[in-house]
Amino acid sequence: MERIQTLLRNHDIRPSYTRMAIYRYLDEHREHPTVEAIYDALSATLPTLSKTTIYNTLNLFVRHHLVKEIDLQDHKRYDIVRTPHAHFKCDVCDTLYDIDITPPIAPKHADISDVRDAQLVYHGTCKRCRQAV
Ligand SMILES: [Zn+2]
Ligand SMILES: [Zn+2]
Repeated sequence: MERIQTLLRNHDIRPSYTRMAIYRYLDEHREHPTVEAIYDALSATLPTLSKTTIYNTLNLFVRHHLVKEIDLQDHKRYDIVRTPHAHFKCDVCDTLYDIDITPPIAPKHADISDVRDAQLVYHGTCKRCRQAV
């Protein structure tokens, strides 16, 4: 917890117990959890925790560049790995795999001055689900 406390402080975030617990969950569960998954996992030990608090905390982490938000149209997932990488989403089991390629960035266009982020998400079926058919 001390490492997380320092990390949050270094990103100008006051390290409350809840914030540290949410960050630790993301750190220990690298499968890009949803707000619901975090809530289900932490609400037993943090009875006052609400989904709104988790959502606000994740937004705070995103704003302070601690976590990346992956927008999958119908829901959002959160990624603690901030080095550039793409994703593959299995549309059968919903698993989001990290793909070790740098998403195409900095398109050339006369009206663009600054590209902050790019997200590349492939969709398909993973091997595990293909074999299960
Ligand atoms: Zn799958
Ligand atoms: Zn990822």
